[in-house]
Amino acid sequence: MTLKDLKPGESGVIKRVGGTGALRQHFLDMGVIPGAEVTVIQFAPMGDPVELRIHGYELTLRLDDADKIDVQTIIHGEKAAPSSTRKKLMEHPGLGEEGKFHPKGSGSKLPSGTKLTFALVGNQNSGKTTLFNQLTGSNQHVGNFPGVTVDRKDGVIRGHENTLITDLPGIYSMSPYTSEELVSRNFVLNEKPHGIINIVDATNIERNLYLTMQLLEIGIPMVVALNMMDEMTGNGGTVDINAMEAMLGVPVVPISAAKNEGVDELVKHAVHVAKYQEKPLRQDFCAVDDHGGAVHRALHSVIHLTEDHAERSGLPVRFSASKLIEGDELILSQLSLDQNEKETLEHIVLQMEKERGLDRSAAMADMRFAYIKKVCDRCVIKPKESREHIRSRKLDRILTGKYTAIPTFIIIMGLVFFLTFNVIGAWLQELLEKGIDSLEKAAGSAMAAGNVNSVIQDLVINGLFEGVGSVLSFLPIIVTMFFFLSLLEDSGYIARVAFFTDKLLRKIGLSGRSIVPLLIGFGCTVPAVMSTRTLPSARDRKLTILLTPFMSCTAKLPIYAFFVNTFFPNYGGAVMTLLYIVGVFVGIIVALLFKKTLFRGEAVPFVMELPNYRLPSPRNVMQLLWEKAKDFLQRAFSVILIATIVVWFLQSFDFRLNPATDSHDSILASIAGLLTPLFMPLGLGDWRIVTSLISGFMAKESVVSVLEVLFGAEGGIAAVITPAAAASLLVFCLLYTPCVAAIASVKRELGVKWAMAVVLWQCAVAWLAALVVRLVLLGFGL
Ligand code: GDP
Ligand code: MG
Repeated sequence: MTLKDLKPGESGVIKRVGGTGALRQHFLDMGVIPGAEVTVIQFAPMGDPVELRIHGYELTLRLDDADKIDVQTIIHGEKAAPSSTRKKLMEHPGLGEEGKFHPKGSGSKLPSGTKLTFALVGNQNSGKTTLFNQLTGSNQHVGNFPGVTVDRKDGVIRGHENTLITDLPGIYSMSPYTSEELVSRNFVLNEKPHGIINIVDATNIERNLYLTMQLLEIGIPMVVALNMMDEMTGNGGTVDINAMEAMLGVPVVPISAAKNEGVDELVKHAVHVAKYQEKPLRQDFCAVDDHGGAVHRALHSVIHLTEDHAERSGLPVRFSASKLIEGDELILSQLSLDQNEKETLEHIVLQMEKERGLDRSAAMADMRFAYIKKVCDRCVIKPKESREHIRSRKLDRILTGKYTAIPTFIIIMGLVFFLTFNVIGAWLQELLEKGIDSLEKAAGSAMAAGNVNSVIQDLVINGLFEGVGSVLSFLPIIVTMFFFLSLLEDSGYIARVAFFTDKLLRKIGLSGRSIVPLLIGFGCTVPAVMSTRTLPSARDRKLTILLTPFMSCTAKLPIYAFFVNTFFPNYGGAVMTLLYIVGVFVGIIVALLFKKTLFRGEAVPFVMELPNYRLPSPRNVMQLLWEKAKDFLQRAFSVILIATIVVWFLQSFDFRLNPATDSHDSILASIAGLLTPLFMPLGLGDWRIVTSLISGFMAKESVVSVLEVLFGAEGGIAAVITPAAAASLLVFCLLYTPCVAAIASVKRELGVKWAMAVVLWQCAVAWLAALVVRLVLLGFGL
């Protein structure tokens, strides 16, 4: 029978893992290996995917993939009882015992004054970013969704000026499965940091040590930071640190990154091993007596066979041998083996597979997990089921329950929008608007009293206050929106949303993982596009990137509010909601279109960890909000300010730089006039509107500031366009190319050609949709 046939609550032992290539390697790396015990927890509300428990953590798989995994059912109670003697907490050796791993003086000390570089490597959700923030005091976005860190970030360790630490994307193994894994792997292999800080989640130790095994093979000086020790000990677990150090051959430091415990000691050890270049003492984890030693013999044969090539290509010998046996094509091509050597390698592997009774990848994964099991049996007393886990399970009964998941999702999202636009955000916005208004009045009367030049008066009042001021008042709404989105993300809820929306998203050619960028897209397209790096296939990434701009970002809100106030004052909520829905709807249509044409083929498999729900720390949330506010203020006072001044200038003067008496004669009118015919069919054939749309390329908010500058008070525009044209303008603004910053991030991910294509494509879609909306409204006689 296969994993698919198990019912919720039933357990089985994996007999065989089917499938091929990178995906299969990923299964193995995640611990889905022959001999491992799995328990089915639940099926997603729509029947697919399934949530499993394996090696003590929760994992999701699609039924199609689960069908490739053969299992044998087991009846509970048959398992060997876990060892129960609690390990005594022992004193952890301090730095006084320097040189514990090497006789003193045998390490090759780096010349003093060398800048020590460190890589922070670990699984997703192990607390890397939290630790990075503690180490550097910097504001990094911390999230509880697998793979929030999508880019590398550097910082100096506090109190150690001559250091540089890099926070790498979270990875599960050193196999190149997602582009993030490749980023992290290439960083470690090519940039050769002086030391690695390997962060290990103690509450999930088996899965986390799998990466540790591979890092040790690389032979770079390393320290293991055993994180989340507060949760571990709080639930009655312990780790014999000294025994673990002996078995891994590197210093192990228990820490709690969130509580800043043990971090100083970690830094001391890290700096020490890096400075003295103390390499891991152990690299050999393949036991001679493990299943007759087949893997052991194969590994050592390959090491001898390829040693010279590895040294020539600057790759770690042991690491590349393991990867060769696993069948890693990238390493194989880097080593440039001769034909004879390649054949010998294949013969060695064949012999190993025959003796071990497992294929190459499974045999290697099994060898690593066998050693991990030894380490855990010897050093770790697993905690009883943690409070955090019990709480998560209870929450999941509702949040991912068969009948409750989707209704609660809708309620939660509805609540987020309601609180943002009607309650918290709106209230704060009103307050700010009043403040800006009274400031404007004060400035106006002060300038009038002081007889300031009337052109300057015009610039300050009609340019700056009307333009930048109106945009500025949206700060509270934007910050509130990000507050809720980050709360959802940090708590681990969005991972669940991905779990139960996978089946729906597959219908439009995506996988549940794409829900993250799409939801972040409601906040801002730039981080949304960046977060697509967590998607394991290029096809999914491209498709998701093309769709995120259709999710209405917060910068478009000022535009909606402006037009709602002027044209549909009584239908504010309805119009806004409709716009969001139109965005999603157009996104779905575009996705279906692409699925049938440019992006045929299957979405990526859905293998994802479901972390425990955790309450995000207030400090992290405040840091994020501050960052967003700063970002917005910077934009308001740079791009938007400049755009407003430029537009004000161009519309106030004619080509001879005389003040234009009639704005029809202004420079701006002449330039924008060229594009006006294009917008005639939409009922928007006014140069002022065209100008505002052009400025929207710089930042969406400046559409409003430009309109305010050009039309003056709010009533002005109502004289020029009809409500139907206003509706079509809203739809155009919703769908056309997001700002330069978003285009730049698309360019960074996909290259210039794609970025250009996105710009043209989105303008075309927006134009068409706007036309349709106008025609429909005209058809109804509006
Ligand atoms: P990353 O994905 O590896 O960068 O992990 P994050 O730094 O985003 O942390 C993931 C989650 O674990 C966040 O909710 C943190 O608040 C939480 N966390 C991090 N370190 C600790 C710790 O030492 N103890 C506890 N209880 N939670 C932690
Ligand atoms: Mg992170």
